Amino acid sequence: MDHIFSPWRYAYVTSRKGDDGCVLCGIGAAAPSSDEESLVVARGDQAFVVLNLYPYNSGHLMVVPYRHASHLGDLDAAVLAEMGRLAARAEAVLVEVYRPDGVNLGMNLGKAAGAGIEDHLHLHVVPRWIADTNFMTVAGETRVLPEGLRETWRKLRGRF
Ligand SMILES: [Zn+2]
Repeated sequence: MDHIFSPWRYAYVTSRKGDDGCVLCGIGAAAPSSDEESLVVARGDQAFVVLNLYPYNSGHLMVVPYRHASHLGDLDAAVLAEMGRLAARAEAVLVEVYRPDGVNLGMNLGKAAGAGIEDHLHLHVVPRWIADTNFMTVAGETRVLPEGLRETWRKLRGRF
């Protein structure tokens, strides 16, 4: 289980980047009209929720502060509070929509911890099923998932 948050690479780094070249800053700063393309399912004042492009399971979300920060201590209390509220809502939405057996929440801070985008911290929220290591295969770093990302986006968008 300790590998759960580590194996993905973030190839969507290619499409949208902020001024500093950070993909998460780019998605955060983009107009809400591009949220379907960017797979953003919810926007708050301090943070947003986006699908992971290389999900561990269907419904794999990330709670991301708009502020570019690599340490929790770099974020002020209002940002941390909203990330907490969005994480709680993400858990509830995933339970409603996917009825998982459990949910993992976690952060990888720094390359050694498995961060895919190490300069802009983000909280993974991943629904889990007791049998999910059996019914999904791992081929290289690509997991075979039962539904497409756009379908996942349509199910989750609007439930926050
Ligand atoms: Zn950033």
